[in-house]
Amino acid sequence: RLTGAEAALIVNNGAAAILLALAAIAEHKKVIVSRGELVEIGGSFRVPEIMEMSGATLVEVGATNRTHLRDYEKALAKHGKDTGAILRVHRSNFRMQGFVQQPELAELAALAKRHKVPLLEDLGSGALVDLAMFGLEREPTVGDSLAAGASVVTCSGDKLLGGAQAGLVLGERALLAQIRRHPLARALRADKLALAALEATLSLYAEPERAQAQIPTLAMLSASPAELAARAERLKSELVARVPGLTADIVAGEGEVGGGSLPLQKLRGPVVALSHAEWSAAELESRARAADPPVIGTIRGGRFRLDPR
Ligand SMILES: *Cc1c(COP(=O)(O)O)cnc(C)c1O
Repeated sequence: RLTGAEAALIVNNGAAAILLALAAIAEHKKVIVSRGELVEIGGSFRVPEIMEMSGATLVEVGATNRTHLRDYEKALAKHGKDTGAILRVHRSNFRMQGFVQQPELAELAALAKRHKVPLLEDLGSGALVDLAMFGLEREPTVGDSLAAGASVVTCSGDKLLGGAQAGLVLGERALLAQIRRHPLARALRADKLALAALEATLSLYAEPERAQAQIPTLAMLSASPAELAARAERLKSELVARVPGLTADIVAGEGEVGGGSLPLQKLRGPVVALSHAEWSAAELESRARAADPPVIGTIRGGRFRLDPR
């Protein structure tokens, strides 16, 4: 209901989702990927390596900065029936700017359909709602990708979606049935507690206002300037009242989304900058970190900063 997908499967995480989708759909076959999308997500998760593990063979097309529809067309013509899928990997944790080009997802989907080859998209961050409504950079949603014609979309449950660690596989019923039947599906399945936690988060998405208010990730990303200013004021006055020798000022700060999502997005807002008559910024930082509960701040310009977001 939230994405328009015909069918869905939940696995342990986003990496598992793409590994399983590739193994089930394209094992022993070629998978066409743009050279601009051979990305590393973190740890040892890299697209070419995941591809190798899945048993599919990588066919690189295009160049680092520019890949055209005709590059995919040429690869399809060359590999014909050996082609298992076209894979698109969303650049969720980095951006490329300047002399860049890639086909629209809908164009790629139309090409895939003409050649009767599934189009898989690894969306990474997993936005379910348009983040532009919170004043953030636009990130393609799972629904956008499926509407544009992707056969199967995979994403993470615990990045922008804001839920439990999980991987979502969504798309066409017949392909999802094939994915569910693959032996890896059992090895990578999510456990009941994760499913219960994910379900609780997803049900909040039924009403966007509730999702925004109650899912911590969305609540933090969409906090209003007035709300943040009030929190900063309170933080400043209570800290100064309780800690002798502390000086606090409210200054303009820029936070980051983190979690490999919206890499260029700056989260502007007031932050509380602290200094102390006897303790250095590093000492303030380590005291805050060792507190119960631990408080995480940053050091900028020689002062310890707390972001009320
Ligand atoms: C984060 C990410 C993954 C992995 O998701 P996890 O849930 O962290 O395993 C896969 N692909 C892309 C493009 C990602 O950004």
